[in-house]
Amino acid sequence: MALPPDSLSRALWFHTAPPLPPSAPLMGAAVADVAVIGAGILGLSTALALAQSGVRVVVLEAATVGAGASGRNGGLVVPSLPRIGPPQVLAAYGEDRGNRLLALLGTGADAVFGLIRTHGIACDAVQSGWLQPAHAAVLAPRVAARVDLWRSAGARCIWLDAAETRARMGSNRFHGALFDPSGGHLDPLAYTRGLARAAVAAGAVLHESSGVTHAERTPQGWVLHTAQGRLTAAQVLQCTNLSPPGLPDAAVRNSAVPLLVYQLATPVLPAAARRAMLPGNEAFSDTRNNLLACRWTAQGRLVTGGMAALHTGAMTRLPGKLAARLQDVFPALGRVTFEYAWRGAAALTGDFLPRLMQPAPGWLAATACNGRGIVMNTVLGPVLSAYLQHGDAAALPLPVAPPHPIRFASLARLVPQLLLPLGTWQDRKAERATPG
Ligand SMILES: Cc1cc2nc3c(=O)[nH]c(=O)nc-3n(C[C@H](O)[C@H](O)[C@H](O)COP(=O)(O)OP(=O)(O)OC[C@H]3O[C@@H](n4cnc5c(N)ncnc54)[C@H](O)[C@@H]3O)c2cc1C
Repeated sequence: MALPPDSLSRALWFHTAPPLPPSAPLMGAAVADVAVIGAGILGLSTALALAQSGVRVVVLEAATVGAGASGRNGGLVVPSLPRIGPPQVLAAYGEDRGNRLLALLGTGADAVFGLIRTHGIACDAVQSGWLQPAHAAVLAPRVAARVDLWRSAGARCIWLDAAETRARMGSNRFHGALFDPSGGHLDPLAYTRGLARAAVAAGAVLHESSGVTHAERTPQGWVLHTAQGRLTAAQVLQCTNLSPPGLPDAAVRNSAVPLLVYQLATPVLPAAARRAMLPGNEAFSDTRNNLLACRWTAQGRLVTGGMAALHTGAMTRLPGKLAARLQDVFPALGRVTFEYAWRGAAALTGDFLPRLMQPAPGWLAATACNGRGIVMNTVLGPVLSAYLQHGDAAALPLPVAPPHPIRFASLARLVPQLLLPLGTWQDRKAERATPG
């Protein structure tokens, strides 16, 4: 029987990540200082930091560690934000707070690889750099300006001209690139499981198969109910990414829309292919709206991804489209096939910035995804841990605000797919345009 497209076991990483012994579901009554809902990168990175500070933290996970976006993503370690840059961050948060967020992000990839070393997380982590190549000549000046903006915000990125980009990419279809040597790639499920292991070793308690079905506020604190247990905690941190219904506030759920993203992995390709494309083993995501992103795995598979305007039949249509796209940009690869195809949902906010929301006293919800969660969610962990302990909102790199639902949320959920054909058309138009 074919597995449903949302099954984690379709993901390549499910077959490569070192196993994590399952944790028992929550049974009966338990107490914690902080209850974390969701065992993805954000929940686990925060739980690790809380446990290291001696806080009694319990993590409740509806399925298994990494079952959400954290175990399904492309594994690109990108110290940057999608689409927006320092000016938008500073405009949204002001100089002081904005610069703190930029510094956190700009050094964020180093922090991820540092954490991996500290905890000995076996996740095929490679800090070989991340490239953002301009797919159209007219976009090259914009990417070069982005390099200057991120550098002035403390990032380590540099500008590569077209010849240097060609050498790194193994393709003559790009017109210069932002290169950040602090970026790279990893096996995301192995990383997430490694964070879980580190959090538990530091004293956090983890319960899988323990979805929170509802919550109530009592004089003792929040009581979170699961199928077989209940957890009382003074504070709750909701890290469910795209929040399910049933938790206190639908407004949290409607503060982001789901972007369904497909990931595909080839069979192990010959060493010649690996020498021809990204010979330095960097990861890249280009400037297209309909993003082209790739990285090699430790075994020599190529992982790429894409979106689909219509999800019905996408699993059968996309492999052919993506293989053609790769062959067009990297002719030396020839026509690849794919052995794995899976999908996940990234949370997209209207301004591409993360959200820290307080729907009720003692309840914090964080959505920090926007398709770049490995760095952002990892570095936010210690920050959220400090806030939960000391309550110093002024020290945060993001404002804590009440949930601000996107208007007409159920319609807005369709927008990313509906806009894909327009985005693809704009990509082609930019490619054809002559720089003036
Ligand atoms: C296909 C895809 C590719 C991506 N590629 C990249 C990439 O290359 N690089 C990058 O940096 N980012 C990438 N991202 C984004 C990145 O994966 C996310 O930003 C990040 O994993 C989100 O982490 P999280 O902890 O917030 O959420 P999640 O990992 O989604 O975790 C949320 C958890 O909450 C649990 N949960 C939900 N409801 C409940 C409940 N009621 N009770 C208990 N638990 C609950 C879920 O089961 C889940 O495990 C990608 C995303 C997708 C979907």
